Amino acid sequence: MHVLVIGAGGREHALCWGIARSTLATRLSCAPGNGGIERLAECVDIGVDDFDGIIAYCRAEAVDFVVVGPEVPLVAGLVDRLEAVDILAFGPNERAAILEGSKVFMKNLCKRHNIPTAAFERFSDIAAAREYIQDRGAPIVVKTDGLAAGKGAIVCQTVEEALAAAENIMGGQFGDAGNEIVVEQFMVGEEASFFALCDGRNALPLATAQDHKAVFDGDKGPNTGGMGAYSPAPVMTEEMCQKTMERIILPTMRAMEQDGRPFKGVLYAGLMITERGPQLIEYNVRFGDPECQVLLARWQSDPLAALLAAAKGQLAGDEVTWSERAAITVVMAANGYPGDYAKGTEIKGVAAAEAIAGVSVLHAGTVLDGETLRSNGGRVLGVTAQGVNIREARKRAYEGVDAIDWPDGFCRRDIGWRAINREDEREEEGEAE
Ligand code: AMP
Repeated sequence: MHVLVIGAGGREHALCWGIARSTLATRLSCAPGNGGIERLAECVDIGVDDFDGIIAYCRAEAVDFVVVGPEVPLVAGLVDRLEAVDILAFGPNERAAILEGSKVFMKNLCKRHNIPTAAFERFSDIAAAREYIQDRGAPIVVKTDGLAAGKGAIVCQTVEEALAAAENIMGGQFGDAGNEIVVEQFMVGEEASFFALCDGRNALPLATAQDHKAVFDGDKGPNTGGMGAYSPAPVMTEEMCQKTMERIILPTMRAMEQDGRPFKGVLYAGLMITERGPQLIEYNVRFGDPECQVLLARWQSDPLAALLAAAKGQLAGDEVTWSERAAITVVMAANGYPGDYAKGTEIKGVAAAEAIAGVSVLHAGTVLDGETLRSNGGRVLGVTAQGVNIREARKRAYEGVDAIDWPDGFCRRDIGWRAINREDEREEEGEAE
């Protein structure tokens, strides 16, 4: 089987890493890929938004299965275009990808089906939004309706901040994505990422993960695409996972089916674990990045077989088995990220990092320039390691980071702190007993 992965980030490197070890794949390509993916797959220079180019490649090279990594082509209907020419694809079609493509759609679906989420109101008129914000007070959250590369949610501590956010968004800060806004209640709790593999009707929960969005240690500074992740997420106990399936994922699957939008692919629920249980912050319609890296590190059974079963509408529920070991990914980013940063700086030491037992380096934004590896984005590498627990995995991951010689990059030094605090608490409780 010839498999084509669409995308160029750490998530797609992780997907290629998983698919490359499947006995079902005889050929693996990636469009456009990156400097790390090149070692596993044939990288073809076709952009993720070049649907005609992707289809022409699939036909010319007899691609049997396409796995779409990022949200933008999903929301724009790449899967519909592929299915129209009988090419099997992993990911939701345009009608189902609206769960991520429109916050207003997602919030209304929650309201209609009693799915727990923050109370909200939608606005396309700034005067009404102002009045609502003033009436509700702060803290409060202002969001774009459409996709804004992860930057469309603004948590506001004061009414003034919220008014400014609403005005900026509706004034065109995020283009058409901000024609409508959602203003919602601020929720207090711990965040977690929950993933379910879906085949249109059935949903199979995957392993849990948590990520760190803020750029600096202590979860300080501006939000990024994600500075690190780990799996499992200790806050997601078995009971919490069950509640998430019963109250959030399964009602969503039923609602989407009733609506003529059956959801296939991976449904990624961003959750706030509150005193009242899991609440939905947002839906994404693809794997998270860097959560995908830790999931693939722990994925024991054949990942390609599971993605195929989901795409064919044939999930039996027993497709995925997990390693008991924990996994962690530390993202190395270019100095200056998430603001301005340089591209093209030389990175050395990746082989030395990968020589450490249990360490893999997944590339997010790199390019090979002859034999030289260079940076080619904001988030550049995801140093991924496994261990008996998060503490051990983290120790290895930072040994990997320290083996990498890249003066133009930086990383957080505290990835996994919440999970490690919980591990410590558990150990202390164990000793006290
Ligand atoms: P989103 O793009 O909707 O995932 O939001 C990005 C981040 O903003 C989330 O990961 C949360 O940290 C925060 N956030 C979004 N909505 C809320 C909310 N209603 N209450 C508290 N924090 C939120």
